[in-house]
Amino acid sequence: MNNSGRCAACKYLRRRCAPDCIFSPYFPPTNPQRFVSVHRIYGASNVAKLLQQLPTHLRAEAADSLYLEAQCRVEDPVYGCVGRISLLQHEIHKAETQLVKTQAEIAVLKSQSTQLGHDDDLQALQFESQSDAIGLNNFLQEQYLDFSNQGSSGFI
Ligand SMILES: [Zn+2]
Repeated sequence: MNNSGRCAACKYLRRRCAPDCIFSPYFPPTNPQRFVSVHRIYGASNVAKLLQQLPTHLRAEAADSLYLEAQCRVEDPVYGCVGRISLLQHEIHKAETQLVKTQAEIAVLKSQSTQLGHDDDLQALQFESQSDAIGLNNFLQEQYLDFSNQGSSGFI
């Protein structure tokens, strides 16, 4: 491999990129910032050791993770990615609280509308029984009047 094909790490460290370079598959020369961030936070030799300790199929994911965590640490030197995680957890908590509140409001509104529905039924029932009673009263009054008319006419 010639020097123009060096990976981002070897370019940055100004060294020859060996064919079995541990950085080469994960730090391409097209993205030099990726290695700069990781090197700044962890140090090139630590990253190399870490990658070498891992099975080959996990190295790409580990390099991505190291890069993301390094980026977070650059942006937030105190908390790093924990700062982002805390922020997102806070947002999740806020959203969950809002959801519980909204569900409670929905439950209250549902129970109110159900009660109103029952009230309507009750009022209708009361109205029916009232009108029945009025009807019965009217019927009895009519019967009484008929009877008294007949009675009076009978007696007269
Ligand atoms: Zn290299």
